[in-house]
Amino acid sequence: KDTIKQILKKTESLGSKITIQAWVRTKRDTKDLVFIALNDGSCMSNLQVIADKSVISEDVLHSLTTGASCTVSGLLVESPAKEQALELQALSVELLGECPSDYPLQKKRHSFEFLREIGHLRTRTNTFSAVARIRNALTMAVHSFFQEQEFFNVHTPIITASDAEGAGEMFQVTTLPFETFNSSEGIDYSRDFFGKKASLTVSGQLSAETYATALGRVYTFGPTFRAENSNTSRHLAEFWMIEPEMSFCDINGNMDMAEDFLKYVLNYVLENCKEDMEFFNKFIQKGIINDLQEVINSSFIRISYTKAIEDLQSSSVKFEYPVSWGIDLASEHEKYLTEEVYHGPVIITDYPKDIKAFYMKMNDDGKTVRAMDVLVPRLGEIIGGSERENRYDVLLQRIKDLGLEPEDYWWYLDLRKYGSVPHAGFGLGFERLIQYVTGMTNIRDVIPYARSARNCDF
Ligand code: ATP
Ligand code: MG
Ligand code: MG
Ligand code: MG
Repeated sequence: KDTIKQILKKTESLGSKITIQAWVRTKRDTKDLVFIALNDGSCMSNLQVIADKSVISEDVLHSLTTGASCTVSGLLVESPAKEQALELQALSVELLGECPSDYPLQKKRHSFEFLREIGHLRTRTNTFSAVARIRNALTMAVHSFFQEQEFFNVHTPIITASDAEGAGEMFQVTTLPFETFNSSEGIDYSRDFFGKKASLTVSGQLSAETYATALGRVYTFGPTFRAENSNTSRHLAEFWMIEPEMSFCDINGNMDMAEDFLKYVLNYVLENCKEDMEFFNKFIQKGIINDLQEVINSSFIRISYTKAIEDLQSSSVKFEYPVSWGIDLASEHEKYLTEEVYHGPVIITDYPKDIKAFYMKMNDDGKTVRAMDVLVPRLGEIIGGSERENRYDVLLQRIKDLGLEPEDYWWYLDLRKYGSVPHAGFGLGFERLIQYVTGMTNIRDVIPYARSARNCDF
């Protein structure tokens, strides 16, 4: 049995007898005829069914309400309607599953807030099924980009002891039964993973480095977790990250890779998801197709952090967070730079060491590190990366200076002790990428089940 997408793609289907199974989107009833718009999730388009009342029983007709599922056999004919090429002249219509009148998706439009409350059903709407298909396409794009570039995909652990980012945003993992939480006597909660400390990973990077220093070029693409208590439209407690890690690569090679990667995946979606992208272009973010096409054809602006601070300071805008050299850029600053100053993606390099993680390579000035963040309009930071500190002594000193325990990083230091190489990599938040591509403004709406401070039900 073909899906609606397959049927609509094949011109030779015209005149043939087919059977499809799908859900009712709308039904319109005239004296002799019934018009039913069917959707099976394979694409945005509905297949219009026209049934003579003689082929459909009273009972079935009555039950074919919005959301009901059915099997329809019929002849595929040319459609007189402008918006579609084909329609199905029904020979038989059978009900699969009825859909009672308390079905929450009866209206044509529902607010995203409302739909978040019914995450188990919202994928049945046009917007959320399109997001799901784009998410799928981007997954394919990520793998094909890196596989074409001869990277190896590695699976890095979810449970780990090291806080790669040093931001203290780790969820602790415990083997203790829930009941013991009420009787905390004598229990060392900081070492309760079989007597050791363990957390959910905030990044696969450090493990990926061990592979990069063996296989050359690798990438991980998996879930990461951060105990973010911020209620923003771009932070989740559980999100997916794409993290390439490349040996024999410096900060410039890293920036080139990030830029090539972004352009590749944008192009992939524009080529392979035309129908869904038209939908986002029309209903979610006007003109997004053109904007993304322009990004693909552009060269990303590259500036230093110091220059970015100067740009912000010379602006007449009054920012909520005051600007001075040394601050971490807030999203308002990132948006301003991309939207008002440079009108496109911007890569910012050489951040102050104090606002970046311990593993980034120190510049000769002793004040900045070879970090690079890619910022995009509408979102701000989409990629964070760096050249890694590859000098054993410098890294050891940095670990000590930050009050970290060198013993915890003995294996990480080994990578610098034995055949150290310049290497670099970056992390791209997959959900931010989906936001960027679709124009969806809230990150909770581009992941199947958003995990945030208030939402962990199902
Ligand atoms: P931000 O400044 O937005 O909090 P970050 O600098 O803390 O991000 P990194 O540690 O650099 O994030 O992580 C790499 C990438 O992962 C980011 O560029 C972003 O795309 C994504 N990311 C980080 N935190 C989150 C989160 N809580 N939810 C979704 N994506 C995230
Ligand atoms: Mg953060
Ligand atoms: Mg940041
Ligand atoms: Mg970052």
